[in-house]
Order: sequence, then C-alpha cells, then structure tokens
Amino acid sequence: MLCLICGSDKNKTVFNEEGVDIKKCLGCGHIFSTYIQEDFYNGYYPNDLSSVDHNWWQGAHKLMYEKFWNRLMKKNSGSLLDIGCGLGYFLEEISEIDKNKKWLLFGAETSISAVTFARNNLSLNNIFLGPIENAPYSEKYFDLITLWDLLEHLENPRRTLKKIIEILNDDGYLFIATPNINIQLFKARLKKLLNIGTNHCLEVRDHLHNYSSHSLKRLLKESGFHTIEFIQLPPIQAVSGSSSKVLLIIKNSWFEFSRLVFYLSFGHINFNNLYVIASKK
Ligand SMILES: [Zn+2]
Repeated sequence: MLCLICGSDKNKTVFNEEGVDIKKCLGCGHIFSTYIQEDFYNGYYPNDLSSVDHNWWQGAHKLMYEKFWNRLMKKNSGSLLDIGCGLGYFLEEISEIDKNKKWLLFGAETSISAVTFARNNLSLNNIFLGPIENAPYSEKYFDLITLWDLLEHLENPRRTLKKIIEILNDDGYLFIATPNINIQLFKARLKKLLNIGTNHCLEVRDHLHNYSSHSLKRLLKESGFHTIEFIQLPPIQAVSGSSSKVLLIIKNSWFEFSRLVFYLSFGHINFNNLYVIASKK
C-alpha cells in the first residue's frame, strides 16, 4: 500500500486489531489501517437506528457544538455545509442556537437511514444523499464547511478536499475534527497491555487513515489550504461504553490539563483530538 501522505511503499506494522494490521509509513510516519473499505462506503449507520446511542450524538456533543458556534459562527453569517452530517444533530443544534437564522444550513451524508432520520425526525430539508463529490453545489458557495469525525473514514481524502476547495468561498473556512493518532495509539497500546477493552480501540474497519497534526497539516497544504490553525474544543460529555460519572469527570479534568499544556506550548503539544480551521488565503 502506498502512503497517502508521501507516496512511500515502505512501512511497518505498529498495531493489530481484530486481525487487521495498522501500519506506519517509514517515509513520513503516517499511520493507516490496511483494511480495504469499499469506495463511498455508506453502511456506517444501521438500517434500524433504534440501536444507535442518540444521546451520544446529541446531548453529549452539545457543549462542543456550542463552543464551536461561539468560536466560528456567532459573529458571522452565510452558508454552512456539514459533510458526513450523519443523523443531523450538529445541524439541529446550530439551528436551535441561531435564533435569527443568520446561517443557511446544508448537510451531505451517504447513509440512507441517517438522511431519512435527519429529514423526518429533525426536519432538516437541505440534506444531500450521496458522496459529496456528486453533490450539485455551485462553486465557492459555502462560507463554512465542517467535517466532524469524517476525514479518518475516507479512503481517498484528497478527492474530497479537492471538491471542498471548489465549493468553498475564497474567504470561507473548513473545519475538521478527527482523532489524534499519537494519543489514540498510545491508549490502544495501554489497553492491550492492561488487557482491558482491547477490541475496537482504533476502529480499524472504519478509521482508514489516522492523522497527527503533522500529517493533517501536510494534507491540507497540498490540497490548497494556506492558513491552518489548530484549536481546542471540549470533549464529548460521555464516556463511550460507560455511564460512569467518575470517568466523565476524569475525562474533563484531562481535557483542562491538556488544554493548558496546549496553550503553554504554543500549540506544539496536543493530547486532545485534532480540531483544525483551514482557509485558502
Ligand atoms: Zn508516508
């Protein structure tokens, strides 16, 4: 497999999960899953959404979305496109906060069940069903494009970023939220060592490319983005697979500590997920 970031074919295995190797490129350090996912995969959400943890996607994300609004949307207006909008809870939250309707809201999603839910249950009408590459949006139409936990799922992110460059206004912003592999791999190894919850740490069948701030920055630069800024947002207010309040307190305390380290190190040390704002200028 050729490295997405630098094109090298030299790599080594750094982790194995559920029989699937995770490789690290020896040329640039990019870490990726060897699982072959179908192009334009649309099976992330099940047909029956009653088994999905809706609180995880809605209530637990609320604080993060509010902070995002304050940071990027509150003082502006325009058109927002959420690519990989899933069930639509981010757009619904923005719609609720944006009382004066300063923003026009759009979404794109490949899962039929998720789009049906967003349309029928959240009354989100501007959702495109299908890969963003096929969406009929005008050039430079959007002022803000968001990718919440989508980039790591894409086998071919360069193709998606090319489309984003086309439909993003020259003064607009792209926002990306994606896991930070430096932390994820450390956590996965620690769990394996301690023999706790060793499955699904790195989500090998879903997370095809695992980014660090270094590889993400390079990918964005090569895709046509010139200004790239990493920011911090509060974590999801739930601990996956647990309802423990204590674990949530630990999670939030860890965030406050790591946010402090992030600012004291002028953004060089980041223990959190990657949240990046990129623009063409
Ligand atoms: Zn590489």
